Amino acid sequence: MRGLTSMPPQNPQRLLVIGAHPDDAEFHAGGLMTLWANAGHQLKIMCLTDGSAGHHQHAPEQLANIRQDEAEAAAKRLGASITVWQEADGRLQASLALREKLIAEIRTFAPDLIVTHRPADYHPDHRATAQLVQDACYLLQVPNIVPDIPPLTKLPPVLLAWDRFTYPRLFRADWVIDTTSVLDDVVALLNCHASQVYEWLPHTQGDSAPTAERISWLKEWYAARPRHVAKRFATEMAADGVKYAEAYEVSEYGGAFDAALFDLGSAIHEQRHMNYDR
Ligand SMILES: [Zn+2]
Repeated sequence: MRGLTSMPPQNPQRLLVIGAHPDDAEFHAGGLMTLWANAGHQLKIMCLTDGSAGHHQHAPEQLANIRQDEAEAAAKRLGASITVWQEADGRLQASLALREKLIAEIRTFAPDLIVTHRPADYHPDHRATAQLVQDACYLLQVPNIVPDIPPLTKLPPVLLAWDRFTYPRLFRADWVIDTTSVLDDVVALLNCHASQVYEWLPHTQGDSAPTAERISWLKEWYAARPRHVAKRFATEMAADGVKYAEAYEVSEYGGAFDAALFDLGSAIHEQRHMNYDR
């Protein structure tokens, strides 16, 4: 998977993708993670719940084990490290205890960039995850909070992955990346999450589960998302020829974001980005 064609960068950068469930990183940032890994940078995935609610046939404990294995398989393809918290799926709360646990994890990894959910999202676990990251941001630099682990000296930028929700406000595309060259790689990551993409999600969406040619079915099913993002945002920004894309919104609670700092090679189609000058 790590299609390195050149030497790793001298100063590898560290991306931390924080999702609520064991497949969220791949769904929401699979293209960015693949480009990141291919450029030789370092990557960590965090899942804040155990995924134990996402199935109509498996019991919670059995499902948690299945999803841990699936998440680890996807992370392995990327060369990423992974942490799956054992919080119950569907019951995540932005508690003080979890905020401080998250602060400890972020400080320990010391990311150059964080990606997570937007606070507006259909799933309460996604919202709680976004809230936890938002609540952790400022405190990452405060030494008297989680005093056992040294504070960060620089606040990393936080990017929020695209979603379609409109309340309380529409997603704002600050950074759009061209993921056309890695679409098949993202599909291969999602293929690791068989309990979700072939079983649970078709079940919840009223689709019949695929019985043959599963990868082709998955590619068609998944591609609608990055195709929509490309059409919606790349075209808006007069970037013709981008077939598949991911879009990110800069959180004003993170550090200053400058896309020029994240050199992922020619695969990145940088549209516009925000430098918060505060
Ligand atoms: Zn999720």
